[in-house]
Amino acid sequence: MSIRENLARVREHIAKACESCGRDPREIRLVAVTKTVDIARIREAYDCGLRLFGESRLQEALPKLEALPSDVEWHFIGKLQSNKARKAAELFDAIHTLESASQIVELDKAQRDAPLDALIEVNIAGEPQKSGVWEGGLDSLVQLVLRSNQVRLRGLMTVGPLCDEPEAMRPFFRRLRELNGRVPNADWLSMGMSGDYEVAIQEGATHIRVGTALFGERT
Ligand SMILES: *Cc1c(COP(=O)(O)O)cnc(C)c1O
Repeated sequence: MSIRENLARVREHIAKACESCGRDPREIRLVAVTKTVDIARIREAYDCGLRLFGESRLQEALPKLEALPSDVEWHFIGKLQSNKARKAAELFDAIHTLESASQIVELDKAQRDAPLDALIEVNIAGEPQKSGVWEGGLDSLVQLVLRSNQVRLRGLMTVGPLCDEPEAMRPFFRRLRELNGRVPNADWLSMGMSGDYEVAIQEGATHIRVGTALFGERT
């Protein structure tokens, strides 16, 4: 399947999911996840009309950011080491993976013209090996981010546990949406990937992060 065909199918599924819950598809932003995808194929995706890409590693992203036209919006969705946070803040338009006080300290040193849109990543199932702040630590991190002079907190993000079927993700997505209600002025909610973005949309996602369904299996 070509990227164009994949994109058409994803858009169709987005439309169906929206219809099933009375949402407007224009409320949903598709973050095309381009980790491991080479520049030629990202260009192909660009030519299909995609303008929002997600990368999870700074080093891998650098040449891609340089190669693609400047009307592309880049979101950082990977684990963000504090020592790379400043650079990430200077290169990316948004960061989905805030999780620690030390990141915020570094982000605040970045040189930017405009505030950096960011989301706090929540470890929604409390999985020890996963990144993200646990529910119990969320409120204090929110307060910290709100005091940042650089970061504009837009809401929450989660990856969620591996589930056999998308329906099993629903309670986690629902919980993240509830938690998002505790973030002052939250207007973004980043959840849902190739396997479960329809359920995420039904539960209120504004940003879905889709890689495999657009670009095929990663090798
Ligand atoms: C890789 C990745 C995705 C995309 O996953 P797919 O299952 O390929 O759609 C989404 N979010 C994050 C944080 C990722 O690392």
